[in-house]
Amino acid sequence: MATNMEKLVIIGSGQAAIQLAASLRQKKYDGRITMIGEEPYLAYQRPPLSKAFLKGEMEEVRLFLKPQKFYDDKDIELISDARVEKVDTVNKEVTIGSGTSYAYDKLVFATGTRPRMIPELEGAENVQVMRTLDDAKALKTQLDQLTHVTIVGGGYIGLEAAAVLRKMGVAVDVLERMPRLLARVTGEEISDYFKNLHEANGVNIRLGAEVQTYQKDGSSITGVELNDGTTFKTNLILVGIGVLPNQELAAEAGIEVGNGIIVDENCETSVSGIYAIGDNALRPLEGQPEKLRLESVPNAIDMAETAARHILGLERPAYDPPWFWSDQYDTKIQTVGLSSEHTETFVRGDVATGKFSVFYFKGETFLAVDSVNDPQSFMACKNILKMGLRLTSETVQDQSKTMMDIFKELKTQKV
Ligand SMILES: Cc1cc2nc3c(=O)[nH]c(=O)nc-3n(C[C@H](O)[C@H](O)[C@H](O)COP(=O)(O)OP(=O)(O)OC[C@H]3O[C@@H](n4cnc5c(N)ncnc54)[C@H](O)[C@@H]3O)c2cc1C
Repeated sequence: MATNMEKLVIIGSGQAAIQLAASLRQKKYDGRITMIGEEPYLAYQRPPLSKAFLKGEMEEVRLFLKPQKFYDDKDIELISDARVEKVDTVNKEVTIGSGTSYAYDKLVFATGTRPRMIPELEGAENVQVMRTLDDAKALKTQLDQLTHVTIVGGGYIGLEAAAVLRKMGVAVDVLERMPRLLARVTGEEISDYFKNLHEANGVNIRLGAEVQTYQKDGSSITGVELNDGTTFKTNLILVGIGVLPNQELAAEAGIEVGNGIIVDENCETSVSGIYAIGDNALRPLEGQPEKLRLESVPNAIDMAETAARHILGLERPAYDPPWFWSDQYDTKIQTVGLSSEHTETFVRGDVATGKFSVFYFKGETFLAVDSVNDPQSFMACKNILKMGLRLTSETVQDQSKTMMDIFKELKTQKV
């Protein structure tokens, strides 16, 4: 290999990392690509870990985003089971745990996030988080012996796991500190819908739940007591209370961080030629006054594509509004846009039939939609937001037309 080739090193080998490497090669990047990941696997997709894989409906090999042959054919060097411990931006090299260093011309942090832990549960035997393939395997191998699982945190990952555990006949208690489920990411209609859905499937949901003590037998947790005196017996605690960005390495290297590694619209950090992509990055988003950190596959793909283009001196990709999905029981929720600043909501469809969409507006500005088993409304709204079309609350409330028809009309009006 020629020594004057540009050397690009990617720290991390997850969703964003493999997407970047693949996009670069697809766009004919001819530099050297080295991807260093601390997990002992080829890059894999995480969404099925708390869904099809946990349920036993998807084999491990199908989690891998690309087979080994892809890395070989595209000349992508994957160093797995190796953690980058140091980044030296002066000498432009990264060093892994074994002491080996890799020189770079361009560097990309694709380090993702790690689960937040509850300090009292640190070190306990029967406490599980759900981030990696190893976490999912650990939970999966225990499923047969579990009778009671307590899930701390009523967010998407905890609720997806609750749905699978109930299907396996495990008793599930979900303890959520906030007054509603999914409070950080969605509106009240959706929180209520999922509460009813889980309760109908036998999950015991406690909202406003403050844990008083975790009862222990040696290093195992045997029960949980809330501050109102209620106690829950448990074989296992699944902690799903959010994640922290893996940004320490960047901060130590003198790169600016906040709640994530701070990047500009090209995914470049405060140091020229160093990028951050995926869950770990605090990025600017169209129409948002503050930079945001998004945790989703589409965001990881979008950022990888953006960074790849900047590295190659190409134009940024067209704006793609943030979107996300989750599967629980037979329900698929698809979200597009950001609803956090909404002042009004409008529901289309019938909540009782489990096929509906909630539209979020700030005044007359359409912000986002949550579509429950309603992929057409999701697709229509994704296009509306992407193309910057003006959807009014009046139009949304006219249920005589489908959302696809509304999208087509708005598109025609714009032309
Ligand atoms: C259980 C689960 C279910 C999910 N479901 C959905 C879903 O339904 N829809 C959706 O859109 N998103 C979902 N997500 C989120 C989605 O998986 C993430 O947004 C996506 O994986 C982010 O990609 P990433 O490359 O930024 O991080 P990751 O995929 O986490 O990859 C980061 C990698 O970097 C490695 N790393 C970190 N530090 C170092 C270091 N110093 N040296 C070497 N390697 C390092 C990590 O070990 C990890 O392997 C889910 C996530 C989980 C955990």
